[in-house]
Amino acid sequence: MNKPNEGKAAIKHIESDYDKEIVLVSDFSAFDMKKAPLYDAVILDFTDKKGCLELLKTIRSSFIESIYLLPIFVLSIIEIKDDEIGQLSDGVINNIQTDSINSFIEKVKVKRKQLKPFTPSPEIDKNLIKLLRFSFTREKSLLPVKDRHSVIGYKYPLINLALDSKDAGAEMKAITKAVEEGFFSAKFIDRMHLCGKCYSGFLNYKEVDPETGDAHLETENIIHHFSCAYMGPESDFVREDKLICPKCTKTLRHIGVDYDKPSVMYHSIESDRYFQDPEMKVECLNCGHINDIEGLVQYDLFELSLTDEGIDEAIQPTGSQSAADTVYSGYITYATFGTFLRFEIERVKSSQKNSSIGLLRPGITSEIENDLGHQYQKLIEEISAFVVNNTTASHILSRSVNSFFILMPETPLDKCNMAMEKMKKSLKTLLENNVKDHDIEVHASVREITPNSEYQSVLNDLRAGILKD
Ligand SMILES: [Zn+2]
Ligand SMILES: [Zn+2]
Repeated sequence: MNKPNEGKAAIKHIESDYDKEIVLVSDFSAFDMKKAPLYDAVILDFTDKKGCLELLKTIRSSFIESIYLLPIFVLSIIEIKDDEIGQLSDGVINNIQTDSINSFIEKVKVKRKQLKPFTPSPEIDKNLIKLLRFSFTREKSLLPVKDRHSVIGYKYPLINLALDSKDAGAEMKAITKAVEEGFFSAKFIDRMHLCGKCYSGFLNYKEVDPETGDAHLETENIIHHFSCAYMGPESDFVREDKLICPKCTKTLRHIGVDYDKPSVMYHSIESDRYFQDPEMKVECLNCGHINDIEGLVQYDLFELSLTDEGIDEAIQPTGSQSAADTVYSGYITYATFGTFLRFEIERVKSSQKNSSIGLLRPGITSEIENDLGHQYQKLIEEISAFVVNNTTASHILSRSVNSFFILMPETPLDKCNMAMEKMKKSLKTLLENNVKDHDIEVHASVREITPNSEYQSVLNDLRAGILKD
């Protein structure tokens, strides 16, 4: 038999005090993907960097849960400065400690047990479910990493695996959708400016002649001769090592005394044109499109952390009944709510009258939901109707799984807080009357909308407020 790695087993079982199949992989060509679900954890030897990253990507790009959720560590004695490995693996280790590997395996196992099976359907975005489930089992946020091979210049490694890396729009759409549906909260990392035609971040900013579009320019000082008032480019004055005025032929002496340099002029080398203000153009090095500055697409990069809605969706995908698509009577979709909130912030800026926003959430865990069975849906509908009946027509409502968002225009924070506390109390009573076997907490949080509010952070703060409640 042909052994690829003489003297060193390609795949080595690691002895431990636990009944776990932990393997160290040194020769990546020997790894059999069909066996992956049999392992409890895999350790990849970083000696072969390329092979290591390739196998890591192959495992994580699978859509089979027992493969892509496999705990994977990267073994390296040297420090690895590779954010992609950081995002796709479960950690870089410099020695094998089976104790900590075992506790990680157990932690993931507990989380995986909560995941409910779902039937794949065209309405279910399996890539999104994968992101949610990976993030949930790891309690790990998704971070964009710099990548010069990606069109944008950045990528979210796990999201990118399933998409065509040349199609930057697909990744942007996937992220925007996941955030708008409320599955992830988004923390600002950086702002990119991308080509308006192909979303490439590989751009060349240049000053050009506004007439010809030519970038071959030089700048020249303009000289103003005080005594005769003549103004012209410096080259008109240069005579050997002196400056002599072309109009009055006097020699220029001291800058600030008999002449000065009030501004610069641009000179287009090819056409020999002089002009004052060049134009800024941005050429896309990917598709060749010449963008105006205003034509660039602004794209924000976020750290994506799972929200409670995201956890619910990870555990039990709702598919076609997905939170954002379902329109409940009296409610607008979460995405439309986001738009309303943005308008409201603009309105507050001009009216200077602050508004408020509240979030109400019955603490129905997946265990309680399981227990309630068919009764759950009925209960949620009842809560839904309760919120509608306890708000006024001027309030804007959105419902996402069992989170109820209430936008109260021109309502001061203390008034909003009072209304929310009242609702929280009544809802608690409603739940006590309807669910005998469980004690369901009701959480509420409120935020003020000021001219300085930013809509995404308002929503994030609201959710964070619930966690502290
Ligand atoms: Zn002169
Ligand atoms: Zn382009």
